[in-house]
Amino acid sequence: MKVDVAVIGGGPAGLSSAHAIRRANPDVTVAVFERSDIRPRGASFGVLPNGIRALEAIDPALLVSLQRHHTSPEKARRFDAAGTLVFSTDEGGLSGMSQAVKPQLNLAWHSLQRELAQALPQGVLHTQHRFLGYREAADGVQVELATPQGVRQVSAQLLVGCDGGQSLVRNALLDDGPPNYLGVAIWRAVRPVPADWPIDHGWVSYGALGTSSILTSTLGNGTLAWQAFVPWPADQLGVIGGGRRAYIQEGEEGQGNQAAGDAGPQRLARVLACFDAFPDAVKQLIAGTDPAAITEHGQFARDAEQCQTYAKGRVALVGDAAHMMTPTLAQGCSQALEDALELGRAIGCLGPTPAALAEYEQIRLPMASPVQAASVQLFSDILKGKAKFTSELETNRREGFLDRLHAPLRPAAA
Ligand SMILES: Cc1cc2nc3c(=O)[nH]c(=O)nc-3n(C[C@H](O)[C@H](O)[C@H](O)COP(=O)(O)OP(=O)(O)OC[C@H]3O[C@@H](n4cnc5c(N)ncnc54)[C@H](O)[C@@H]3O)c2cc1C
Repeated sequence: MKVDVAVIGGGPAGLSSAHAIRRANPDVTVAVFERSDIRPRGASFGVLPNGIRALEAIDPALLVSLQRHHTSPEKARRFDAAGTLVFSTDEGGLSGMSQAVKPQLNLAWHSLQRELAQALPQGVLHTQHRFLGYREAADGVQVELATPQGVRQVSAQLLVGCDGGQSLVRNALLDDGPPNYLGVAIWRAVRPVPADWPIDHGWVSYGALGTSSILTSTLGNGTLAWQAFVPWPADQLGVIGGGRRAYIQEGEEGQGNQAAGDAGPQRLARVLACFDAFPDAVKQLIAGTDPAAITEHGQFARDAEQCQTYAKGRVALVGDAAHMMTPTLAQGCSQALEDALELGRAIGCLGPTPAALAEYEQIRLPMASPVQAASVQLFSDILKGKAKFTSELETNRREGFLDRLHAPLRPAAA
């Protein structure tokens, strides 16, 4: 197979990059290679105003299709681990980030992935294609992929690594080691809203980050997303999938049906055990989740000093592969969408060339790098008890990100 641009990873970064490149220059051929199938996984996240603008600039129709899945949280309640109410919007409106960072899309991760995937023409996205490695020559890149039918070779002008925080493309390009484990395990899932859930529409959390905590958000169609964060020792990381195997999912890494079938129930049992002392509402919420819907992994991030290369020669890194951050500041997806827009614009102007990748890096590095640094710092301060999760707004203000969240997009080159 021969294409102009081979994109590795069909998450938010990879799929939006494919759209951005194709819109910027329909003559440039793009293929996206994703190791998994497109199926429900993950929980929910916010696309913030900067991400929304980037998405709209990539393709206004994508924004319209995603808006159909957006639900606007109207209420919030925070309980401590014992179930005592510590904050409620019953006393007033939504506070902090929710007010300052508007508009935003509150979406299931899977809705975003599915909509971006379905909007690509047939033949662009190749699932069950796992990146193995590449060789770069003066005139192109040779990419090797594992498929159920055997190893497949692809020739491309450019290789774009959108394969997430544990990126193998990054590893092959920079060989700068794995990201840092931050000492926290995360479980995520979407399930139907329980009948007696504390509020009908919005956010509910129990506990606080730094100890065991669970954050939930109602989505459309009577579903609810939950994300559980639990301190988890580094020497037990292997139990939840280890370093390179983030986002372990049913059947993905299992050796045969037996191993794959056991993985979900074991994952469910592990997360449930961590919330043993929590109120019944939390235990029932977790226990009533389809085990196959639960993702499990450690929280990793990179130091800002490690993330000073987004492109080299014919290879670029986009999204978490370039600048893996943490859930604090909620910018992971939005920065990936901004990356995709600028990568598309650069390839649109300069063609599928190393010069386009250099241009992409020059534009995006100064923008994404401070956000990544602040996100990692805040997460680490929260874990050490030096800051609260509610310090997000303060950090956004201090770093000048609020202005940037609402600033117009960089104009495209003529
Ligand atoms: C399954 C999943 C669920 C998630 N759920 C949430 C969530 O609920 N809330 C949240 O805030 N963030 C979630 N994230 C993380 C979030 O998507 C990212 O932090 C951010 O949006 C940046 O996206 P990305 O595309 O750079 O990376 P990712 O979203 O991590 O996407 C990387 C993609 O590359 C694929 N990939 C990895 N290695 C290879 C390989 N060797 N060959 C081919 N493909 C490969 C992965 O399967 C994945 O689809 C999730 C990520 C994944 C993969």
